[in-house]
Amino acid sequence: MVDVTQFESEFAGSLPQTCELLRRGHLVVDPRVKRIILHGSRGLRGGCRPDSDVDLTLVVDDSGVEEGYEHEALMKAVLEETLQNWKGDVKLDVEAVFDLHGCRMPCLANPKVNTRKCPYRGIDCIGVYRMHGDRAGYVVRAGHQVDKMRPCILVWERKKTAVPA
Ligand SMILES: [Zn+2]
Repeated sequence: MVDVTQFESEFAGSLPQTCELLRRGHLVVDPRVKRIILHGSRGLRGGCRPDSDVDLTLVVDDSGVEEGYEHEALMKAVLEETLQNWKGDVKLDVEAVFDLHGCRMPCLANPKVNTRKCPYRGIDCIGVYRMHGDRAGYVVRAGHQVDKMRPCILVWERKKTAVPA
């Protein structure tokens, strides 16, 4: 478990209230999470109400993890770890994403990358795993658009030297 306490300076500087909310809420991630990305109304889009969710995308390093049961277990564990430790005043809405096509996800790596440069035009180009209440599962061929996650901002990134547990 990694305590997220060091936030990206661009995020902390441009969204101080959301940053404070995450700080107070005890945000933790599994060691296999590489990056945390914020989108939605608590992010750069703005327009949040006092009770608005925080929309976070956890980018998971799934290298070496076999497809199937093992992979799904990892995705589920990643989401549960963050959700079960969250003590914030508002709900967290988290999804786990992973490199589905081995493209290294340029769309996500740099939020400013034009999705037209993505080989999949930004549609279903990343693997997404979500939890809704007790139900959890992959979002498969659902026409998921990276563009709908914009504008987004990098909240935190795993240090290059960190070794996954
Ligand atoms: Zn893409």
